[in-house]
Amino acid sequence: MRHITLRTSAIVRRLTAAAAAVLMLGAGAAGLTACQPKPSGRATPEAMVARTVDDHSYARPQEARVRHVDLDLTADFNKKVLRGTASLQLETEANAKRVVLDTRALDIEKVTDGSGAPLKYTLGKNDPMMGAPLTVELPQGAQKVVVHYQTTPEGTALQWLSPAQTAGKQKPFLFSQGQEIHTRTWVPTQDSPAIRQTYKARIVVPSDLTVVMAAKQLTPKGEAVPGQPRQRAFRFELDKPVAPYLIALAVGDIGFKAVGDRTGVFAEKVTLDKAAAELSDMEAMLDAAEKIYGDYRWDRYDVLILPPSFPYGGMENPMVTFATPTILAGDKSLVSLIAHELAHSWSGNLVTNATWEDFWLNEGFTTYFENRIMEQVYGPERARMLQVLGYHDLQETLDDLSAAGTPDFTRLHPDLKGVSPDAYFSDVPYEKGAAFLRMLEARFGRKKFDAYVKGYFERYKFKSMTTEAFLVDLRTNLLNNNADLEKQLQIHQWLYERGLPSNAIVPTSPALDQVMAQIQSFAGGADVKTLDVSGYSTQHWQYFLTQMPDTITLEQMAALDGQFKFTESQNAEIRAAWLTLAIKKHYLPAMTAVRDFLLAQGRAKFCRPLYTELMKQPGWGVDMARRIYAEARPGYHDVTRAVVDKIVK
Ligand SMILES: [Zn+2]
Repeated sequence: MRHITLRTSAIVRRLTAAAAAVLMLGAGAAGLTACQPKPSGRATPEAMVARTVDDHSYARPQEARVRHVDLDLTADFNKKVLRGTASLQLETEANAKRVVLDTRALDIEKVTDGSGAPLKYTLGKNDPMMGAPLTVELPQGAQKVVVHYQTTPEGTALQWLSPAQTAGKQKPFLFSQGQEIHTRTWVPTQDSPAIRQTYKARIVVPSDLTVVMAAKQLTPKGEAVPGQPRQRAFRFELDKPVAPYLIALAVGDIGFKAVGDRTGVFAEKVTLDKAAAELSDMEAMLDAAEKIYGDYRWDRYDVLILPPSFPYGGMENPMVTFATPTILAGDKSLVSLIAHELAHSWSGNLVTNATWEDFWLNEGFTTYFENRIMEQVYGPERARMLQVLGYHDLQETLDDLSAAGTPDFTRLHPDLKGVSPDAYFSDVPYEKGAAFLRMLEARFGRKKFDAYVKGYFERYKFKSMTTEAFLVDLRTNLLNNNADLEKQLQIHQWLYERGLPSNAIVPTSPALDQVMAQIQSFAGGADVKTLDVSGYSTQHWQYFLTQMPDTITLEQMAALDGQFKFTESQNAEIRAAWLTLAIKKHYLPAMTAVRDFLLAQGRAKFCRPLYTELMKQPGWGVDMARRIYAEARPGYHDVTRAVVDKIVK
């Protein structure tokens, strides 16, 4: 997923489990070499993953495990609920007495077996984060349970938008966001990323709407529903096992346009042409990604552009990435987000973090891979600029997390027992993870490192992975079990300790150095007309605006605005950077644009810094933040509300 930044979580956790795991691992893996048979009693990466406990799921997969989900649901846009059944295919131990499922904010009507006979079940105590375990008693040999249920408005995965909240303004819209532990609020299943499941679905909606799922679209135009002339049904199938957070649904006035043989764009019909033009390089990105890490294994790669209230940049739902419309800048300058989501087709969807404490395995690999795709398609200079911008974000995040009293969240492998995975969300798993892999690339050379990563994806395809199992694989297949080398590379510090190890490579970009020279010249009093900004891209401008010192005067702000028309910019990244600066300087001509921007979109990445800056201004800023938020909040997603609620108290 890309990308929200929560830099001020107040939860302080102590890391003891991670340290214990390291000690255990150090003893277990010592002396294992690639050319010897593995001594018995020493765990393989697969065995290590199999014994891992996911603290964010009630499931007990060793006893009974969900293999396949079959959904048959009807969307009720008046009541804002989905209603129907989830049929679960199980794999059970010989004497399994029960299966435990994850649920939260669901109304369970009944549970039956495959033939419709009722089964006994209990719904356990509800925990606000985890939800309630649904325990179903299994008759001897049972392989299937059917849960009859409906969702409730308290669920956090589904967002029901009124027509006014869409781009087209005519029809309602519905979309789901499962990561990290929200799928259980619309699908009663074992909601752990280590419990991969295939799925099928039949979704019934009003006949003027179209359904898209992150799966194979079996009936793109829908089909009649007997006896229900005002409804249509759409069917889907994903025959490759995925983590349940990747089950995804969208309903709306959605059209489709192909941009390549295997690639295309879904969007509200009013946005479709613009989206397809912006994303016309998707096929080239897919080719570039395959050149680096091997075959794309998901058949098609399409992108669904969601309405503006989508809280994230993008979500890598298999076959169909869900993305924010704020990437539609008009000049392809923000498509690195698509490279990121596409990269997840390998890191995340193919090899998946087994628990949310291993989130960096999804996001660090993906951030690294995203940059490689950008380099291949748009050239090394653009890739270097993106690295520098990411590195600056990371530095800020590390400082902020320490200042906020949560230095343990600067670890790649945090202890999240009893903590919502949402609380750990920051640049750390993304940019620190990528920095770790860049260090390895530099040490081993690109050719050798690429071969290692390609092999890693091949070895663990359609499997889940933990940090400790990854380390065993790294020792075996890259470090040649050389303990001295491992120490020299500070592998332990990278994976388990706070902050950034001393061998991190600081990325540089000659192009951004040139931007810095212009900033210094301008801040030093040079006339705005003397600045050399020829050929500036979005990334140049982002750097220009975020690195501009606070000491510049209101006259200089006005000169910049007069020359470069920042207040009128429709590029979301430039707009956010400029408006943040404008709030800091209380530059009045931009204040209407602040309000317009916060009302027009609900992406947490942009809402967080703008509200934060407003709240730092006593009097006018606090008033303005509260006024705008009162108006904007109903249109924001739960995720964004949770972020901004904390800021605008
Ligand atoms: Zn991601």
